[in-house]
Amino acid sequence: MRKPLIVANWKMHGTQTFVRRFIAALEEGKDALRQPEAEARVVICPPFPYLLSLVEQLGTGLGAKVLVGAQDVNAQKDGAFTGEVSASMLSDCNAHYVIVGHSERRHLCAESDLLVAQKFAAAQIAGLTPILCVGETLRQREQGLTLEVIAKQLQSVAELPGVDMTRQLVVAYEPVWAIGSGKTATPQQAQEVHHFIREQLGEAGSRIQLLYGGSVKSTNAKSLFAEIDIDGALVGGASLEAQEFLNICRLAGATCSVG
Ligand code: PEP
Repeated sequence: MRKPLIVANWKMHGTQTFVRRFIAALEEGKDALRQPEAEARVVICPPFPYLLSLVEQLGTGLGAKVLVGAQDVNAQKDGAFTGEVSASMLSDCNAHYVIVGHSERRHLCAESDLLVAQKFAAAQIAGLTPILCVGETLRQREQGLTLEVIAKQLQSVAELPGVDMTRQLVVAYEPVWAIGSGKTATPQQAQEVHHFIREQLGEAGSRIQLLYGGSVKSTNAKSLFAEIDIDGALVGGASLEAQEFLNICRLAGATCSVG
């Protein structure tokens, strides 16, 4: 059975003080982190410098409800790659998840489908759960290419030797035009793509958590979570405000139709 999942992507935001205050707010609002009828799992992906301190501050109390993920990983095991971070380092620091293929990295850092696939494989090999982001640009949607683009992004990962698409992964559908833009896909638009992704994943599709990402807020989350194939959200901007983030977590626990 799939459980709701909410992932915070803090991007390049935050300070040590921000992290401390966020944890204090989570502690106060922890009722939101576990719902009796449907446990919502929560993951926070901070910038690298705050990852270990976040793990330590969550401790064993909040840490049972909130896991930590990274926003990126290098595809290589180790070596002379100045400035890079390997999957085994993330695992060593008790991260459990890592985002791969975020559109900001695909577009701003020119990450190819192949590189994304290699990062996905490196994450799985190190025992991390990759959160694979896929999504079309506005132009591709207007040209009617949405499903073709998503299929290609999924296929390039599935085809890489060493990748196992039947275990330990999350897919986030993030239409590029909806990220940080204030525009959200309608629940119907999102559901159509989520259903397609599930089909593309074959037999494992019914077990894999599929998240929607793109300007999710507490005001639009409920209608998105009500869709049968939407298991939660990857939240950028709204994850920087603790109360707003907790409200989204509450809505996921109460609304996501767990399949
Ligand atoms: C994201 O960064 O993955 C994202 C969805 O951002 P936002 O919620 O700000 O659109």
